[in-house]
Amino acid sequence: MEEAIDLFETKFPAAIRQGNYDPPKVRCSKWMVVRGPVIGSKHHRGTLLVEAKSIEAWAKHHAGAVWSTVQSEQGAREYLPTWIEESDPSDESVSIPDEDMLSVLQGYDENFIKDGRVQLWCPDCRTLHNTVDCGTYDNERMGKISTWVSEWRCPEGHVVHNEDQEIRWIIR
Ligand SMILES: [Zn+2]
Repeated sequence: MEEAIDLFETKFPAAIRQGNYDPPKVRCSKWMVVRGPVIGSKHHRGTLLVEAKSIEAWAKHHAGAVWSTVQSEQGAREYLPTWIEESDPSDESVSIPDEDMLSVLQGYDENFIKDGRVQLWCPDCRTLHNTVDCGTYDNERMGKISTWVSEWRCPEGHVVHNEDQEIRWIIR
């Protein structure tokens, strides 16, 4: 049996496991929430919306290019392009993706911002903005650990996101 599994894995090293993922029952609207207090983001005062249709090509590419060992996250990654394809751009309301979809999307939040695919709700301005200023400061490296603070501001200068970041480098 083990030998058969070994052979299979040699032939298909990145076999996709259909995870225990339940696709959302609701149709996606024009906008998806990717960060914000409404979805429990601890370090975000502002709410970041991504225009679903604008990332359709990215989602298709991403589903084929990246693979996760977390089954439900992989399921979400594979379903995301379909959810977006079937979304309703005439519905101006906001959709909240499930947790697994959020894990897939959140790693790319600053890419979506740079590519101009977002809107930001600023709680101080009480309005939506089309741009977000992403910055970092206090960059430091101590041996194998790099730390910095990432900060997002609305165009009026209000801080809508502030978070200590850390990366541990693997050096041999
Ligand atoms: Zn503002």
